[in-house]
Amino acid sequence: MDTNLTRSVLRDMKEYAQQHHVPIMEDEGMEELIRRLRQHKPARILEIGSAIGYSALRMAEALPDAVIDTIERDPERAALARNFMAESGCAQVTVLEGDALEFDAGTLHSSYDAIFIDAAKGQYGRFFNKYSPLLAEGGVLFCDNVHMHGLAGLPLEEVPKSKRTMIRRLKEFTAAIQEDPGFTTELSPAGDGLLICIKRSAGMKKKRPVVIGIAGGSGSGKTSVTNAIYEVYKEHSVVVIEQDYYYKDQSDLAFEERLKTNYDHPLAFDNDLLIEHINELLQRRPIEKPVYNYAIHTRSDETIHIEPKDVIILEGILVLEDERLRNLMDIKLFVDTDADLRILRRLMRDINERGRTLDSVIGQYLSVVRPMHNQFIEPTKRYADVIIPEGGQNEVAIDLMVTKIKAILEEHL
Ligand code: SAM
Repeated sequence: MDTNLTRSVLRDMKEYAQQHHVPIMEDEGMEELIRRLRQHKPARILEIGSAIGYSALRMAEALPDAVIDTIERDPERAALARNFMAESGCAQVTVLEGDALEFDAGTLHSSYDAIFIDAAKGQYGRFFNKYSPLLAEGGVLFCDNVHMHGLAGLPLEEVPKSKRTMIRRLKEFTAAIQEDPGFTTELSPAGDGLLICIKRSAGMKKKRPVVIGIAGGSGSGKTSVTNAIYEVYKEHSVVVIEQDYYYKDQSDLAFEERLKTNYDHPLAFDNDLLIEHINELLQRRPIEKPVYNYAIHTRSDETIHIEPKDVIILEGILVLEDERLRNLMDIKLFVDTDADLRILRRLMRDINERGRTLDSVIGQYLSVVRPMHNQFIEPTKRYADVIIPEGGQNEVAIDLMVTKIKAILEEHL
């Protein structure tokens, strides 16, 4: 494919869509879709709702080895899509004209590695029922516009009457897929809301690991809570993923620049990689956990091999800050400990274990740790299902947690 030509055809498509009010995917959602597709590397993609072929051509451009079938019921749009494909010299995309709900699925490939549903939003459930059997095990299904520009987040009574049935069906579909034991589902806020559902293999069905998020300020005792839960399940199957192993790789920055890293700020974390890894573990696939080297302020070359387990504990100061991470969690905990105890613990740790001076620990606490805690960590308390006061010393809270996790595990496994 000629990149410049494709780019210029894509620009023409966007312009056409704007002038003729053809709905095509928003940039942000499109980028997220492409990023995810690149991770999965599908050989065959099926799209429901081609419009004029914009998203199909974007997918073809990003995945030059993929074969894409796309179905569009509007004959004029289908014809335009074919013309744009021909103009760009793209031979990977086959535009099929017809109503996807009536389409003879027997004329399609018997299996696809990715399916992208982007047609009538009120019919997502029906598209899903008809086409998800064509998705290969481990394959990924995407649905765009699940937020419907905020309408899907409103109580139905507040949705304009003309859209109520569509929104009700969309909400029902979104809720059902999240409960479907055959899929691991994540809702990405990108664009207008992108649902990402990975089809579990037969052996993995009903075996979604439990994800427990444990947040709290530095020195709050979240590690004690983590360890207490770990101890109970260590014979069973538990893995701890610490968010601070996922600080961003900064190897492209000069050492002096890296020294300026604010490790208490949300932007210091590579949550994209962390999410990718949690999803892999949810798929019962192993990961290579990165290791961060604080001496050189960037990721080290070494990694730690982690096998999938039934319980995943995700622990870190800001694990509740990112909505995408929260959506992956079954239980969200916030360990809430008074600031005086937190600073005392931090002082003892940094002086005894890290050879720091009293002045430097206090200076760092006042200039970075405290303001970052108040601005970013403390507000995530509102997302927690349970707030545990006084961290690891709170045996009652820990017992309650252990009982709850057992109940979830029994349900899941
Ligand atoms: N995926 C396209 C893109 O981003 O470039 C945009 C698709 S647009 C949002 C939805 C398209 O689905 C419309 O062109 C509409 O005609 C088509 N559509 C709606 N219901 C359909 C159905 N039952 N079968 C096939 N196409 C359908």
